[in-house]
Amino acid sequence: MPWLTPALEPFAQALDQGRLPHATLIHGERGVGKRQLAESIAALLVCDQRTEGSREACGQCRQCLLVAGESHPDIRVYQPEKSRMIRIDQVRALSQFAVASPQVAGLKVAVVDRADQLNINAANALLKTLEEPASDVVLLLLQETGRPVLPTIRSRCRIMPVPTPPAAEAASWLFARLEERDDAPETDQQALALHLAGGAPRLALELLDTGFLEQRESALDAFRQFMKGAVSVATAARAFRSLGHEATLNLMEGWANDLARAMAGGEPRDPGIAEVVRYLASGNPPWRAQELVDAIRESRRALVNNVNPELETDRLLIQWRSLMPRRKRAG
Ligand SMILES: [Zn+2]
Repeated sequence: MPWLTPALEPFAQALDQGRLPHATLIHGERGVGKRQLAESIAALLVCDQRTEGSREACGQCRQCLLVAGESHPDIRVYQPEKSRMIRIDQVRALSQFAVASPQVAGLKVAVVDRADQLNINAANALLKTLEEPASDVVLLLLQETGRPVLPTIRSRCRIMPVPTPPAAEAASWLFARLEERDDAPETDQQALALHLAGGAPRLALELLDTGFLEQRESALDAFRQFMKGAVSVATAARAFRSLGHEATLNLMEGWANDLARAMAGGEPRDPGIAEVVRYLASGNPPWRAQELVDAIRESRRALVNNVNPELETDRLLIQWRSLMPRRKRAG
C-alpha cells in the first residue's frame, strides 16, 4: 500500500527526535487502509533496530518477529464487537494497558479501531486516558470519514489524514492482490468495485470477496421495480436481505449521495442507479437528498440499539419511493 508510506514519515521523525505524539487521530475513507497504517506505525514504534531516518521497522529483531507473529504483548487493538460499538469495559482494559509497564518493547501502542464507534460511556472513559497520558504509551485512534468523533477526544489528538490513492495506484494494487487467484474477477468487475468503493482499494477488495457486486445487482433490480410501483415493499426488501444490514445501509447511503450529486449537476457514482437518481433529481428539491442521508444515518444508529433491521429497510424504501412523482407512483 504505497500511498500509506508518507504517513509513516512523521512517526519516523518523531522517533529520531524522541518526541512521540501521545495520541493521533487517523482519519480517511472507509477501506483506504487505516488499520494497515496503524499496524505499520505500531511495528515501526516497537522495533529495536530501525535505522535512523528509516520509515520501516527492521523486520528481523525480536520485536519485529513478535509483530509478524501477531503476538506482540505491547501492541493492543480495540475494536467494535457484536454490538457494533466499543464498550466501556474495552476502554477500561485499554486504560489499564496504558498505565502498565511495557513487557518487551520500550513503549506500548494502543489502537482504537474505530474511535467513531465508542459508546458515550466508553468515550468518556477514553477521555480520562487522553487527559492523563502515561509517557510510554502511544494511542492511535482511527476514524472513518463522515462519522463523527467527540470534539473533546479530537482536540486531544494530533490529526492525521490518510489520502485515497490515485486511481491508477489503487487499480494496480487491487490487480496485484487478485492476480494469483484462480477465480480472480474480470477486470471490469474490479473496476466497478473500485468505482463503487470511491477509489478505496481495501474496500474494493472486500466488495469483491463478499459477493457484494452480485447481491447489489439483485437489490438494484428489485429497487428499480419498486420505484416504478411494480413490486411491493416486502418483495423489494427481501432482495436486500442477502446483503445484510450494514451493506444495505452502505448501498443506500451511496445512492443517496449519488442523488445529491445528481441534484448538484454531478455524475452519480453507481452506474446502476444513475438513471433512477437523475430522474428523481429532476423532480425534487436538493434538501430531499439530505433528508434521505439523515434517515440512513438514523437507521445506522437504530441498528446499534437492536431495532428490527427489516423494518428499517422497509422504512427507507418507502422514503425513497416518496420521491417519485405521484402519477408514477400510482402506476
Ligand atoms: Zn525490528
